[in-house]
Amino acid sequence: MRLKLGHIAGIDVYLHWSYVLAPIYIIYQLKWQRDFPWSIIGTLLLLLVSMSICVLLHEFGHALMARRLGVGTRDIIITPIGGLARLERLPQKPFQELLISLAGPGVNLVIALLLAVYVLGSGRDWVPSLDFDGVTQFPEIMMWINATLFLFNLIPAFPMDGGRILRSGLALLMPHLQATLIAGALGQAGAIAFSIYGFTSGHYVLILVGLFVYFAAQFEMSQARSTEATADPERET
Ligand SMILES: [Zn+2]
Repeated sequence: MRLKLGHIAGIDVYLHWSYVLAPIYIIYQLKWQRDFPWSIIGTLLLLLVSMSICVLLHEFGHALMARRLGVGTRDIIITPIGGLARLERLPQKPFQELLISLAGPGVNLVIALLLAVYVLGSGRDWVPSLDFDGVTQFPEIMMWINATLFLFNLIPAFPMDGGRILRSGLALLMPHLQATLIAGALGQAGAIAFSIYGFTSGHYVLILVGLFVYFAAQFEMSQARSTEATADPERET
């Protein structure tokens, strides 16, 4: 179930139904559990929507780079944990996949740098203060959100863009399947280390994140094995 947001630059853009869980969670946690003022909750919802717009621009980075290289995009779906630009097919050359994978995080880097220039030029504080006035600190907060989106997506593990960047970089040197298996194994090793850290430190949610990354790598590797020529063209933020 998904809601069509529009047809932008020739691509259908949808909002996944699970997106409504994010504002419900924020309101439940902060209003009903802790009785925060609505002004703070409104600010957080504004930041959520702004972050989702940056995620959408990230996905358009992938989609428009793919179009330049002759690959169409079926649609773009925005979820509360990221976006998904579903390409019609995998680009044929590893270098093309590299460019498409880099284009998404590249958009967030450009936004972060533009905001950094503004923050620097206007003499604002780099680090937002903790009194949580998100409206007046909007440029700083969005700068950090985009810097985080950029760095997070470069983590070299599937399903992050970094996993695809690593795979396509390796595929410049070796067959595509072998590159996928090496990139997948590295991602799985990192996921296991992450889960062990989660277990020993008592941060059990990290174990779930580790498992998610582990199985995403497993999925990518088995897809590459079974349909080497027509591997799954979906990509995530
Ligand atoms: Zn991406």
